[in-house]
Amino acid sequence: GVAAEPQRLTVLGATGSIGSSTLDLVARNRERFQVVALTANDRAEELARAAIEVGAEHAVVADPAAYPRLKDALAGTGITAAAGPQAVREAAARPADMVIAAIVGAAGLEPTIAAASRGTTIGLANKECLVCAGDLFMAAARAASATILPVDSEHNAVFQVLERGNIDQVEKLTLTASGGPFRTLSLEEMRHVSPEAALRHPNWSMGARISIDSATMMNKGFEIIEAFHLFPLGPDQLDVLVHPQSVVHGMVQYRDGSLLAQLGAPDMRTPIAHCLAWPRRMATPAQRLDLAALATLSFEAPDPARFPALRIAREAMIAGTAATAALNAADEIAVRAFLDRGIGFLAIAATVERVLERMAAAGDLAEPSCVEDVLRIDGVARAMAQEAIAAQAG
Ligand code: NAD
Ligand code: MG
Repeated sequence: GVAAEPQRLTVLGATGSIGSSTLDLVARNRERFQVVALTANDRAEELARAAIEVGAEHAVVADPAAYPRLKDALAGTGITAAAGPQAVREAAARPADMVIAAIVGAAGLEPTIAAASRGTTIGLANKECLVCAGDLFMAAARAASATILPVDSEHNAVFQVLERGNIDQVEKLTLTASGGPFRTLSLEEMRHVSPEAALRHPNWSMGARISIDSATMMNKGFEIIEAFHLFPLGPDQLDVLVHPQSVVHGMVQYRDGSLLAQLGAPDMRTPIAHCLAWPRRMATPAQRLDLAALATLSFEAPDPARFPALRIAREAMIAGTAATAALNAADEIAVRAFLDRGIGFLAIAATVERVLERMAAAGDLAEPSCVEDVLRIDGVARAMAQEAIAAQAG
């Protein structure tokens, strides 16, 4: 049965890949949800269309330059409009039963913390919140008794198969990775790949940043850090396994030898629906698995020589939050430079590693004690990454 009261829902990053998958589920279940607020960066017309379609109360663009277009597109609808980063934070903090946090990058940190600090249940897609500020973010959520539900498919899978009260019986978690579009290329071949080829993910359709991060496997490195903060386990209990079909999303191994896994078609609407309906379930149109047709599922260990990003991320995780914040910031800059054809594919991980080494040597990696500290580290790492990239180009 459907709850009598509609669920009050806010979607941060509503025009993105996760945001639009979320709104697809909302549009299919209009009676279930009352949409409080939708936010986007600058796609005002798209945001307005979505807000009208799902009957949102409020729409916000982060970029003030997009405000006139938003205002125009919403004229006469009764949907209120606002603009600027402060307005995004305010929208995130509006009373709601759930906030889907689907902004990309460190830009999502403050709004998502604002939502968590209100004690709202968060469907967390914006993994950078945990990569940049894991301890601070989880502490803010704990202080306000906010529940954090993982949208990221691997963590959602683990969350589904973790037995309540048995976390101390877990030997290890395994996050699967597709291996991305370059899984079978040699290091030499990877040197020359184009942004277009790197954006062409074999199984998932996603935003540009995460698509490139999947090709380098930095995304899986971020996900190890994400798991480290979501689940109370040690670094050596977090494993990565390459699984090209992206059917098994995550696994939990218990001390009795049982290995529990969650399987599903690679469609983010399944983990999003799991969060929206938690602790119950809701219908989705996601394709059902035909295991007989698939016939084979294969698994292989990740290759550390061709995918150094995994090691770099793991080392940063062990070093602490300052290092993981710098890791994310340097990667954002390096990915942007690769997309703009300023650096080659292998230079992404190399740039990130150089920034981390320089910051460690310069004493720039003191542990942050507040979000302002994180943003300062983020700024230093961005500047150093720009510098490293300029040095390679020159
Ligand atoms: P996307 O690029 O498709 O969408 C990003 C959204 O964030 C857009 O709505 C954009 O308008 C908004 N945004 C961008 N910059 C902003 C800023 N400065 N201020 C406010 N809003 C801003 O990204 P995506 O693929 O939907 O990913 C969103 C998050 O979910 C990322 O953290 C990603 O790692 C994570 N995630 C995505 C997938 C996936 O399948 N796409 C899977 C797991 C996790
Ligand atoms: Mg994932």
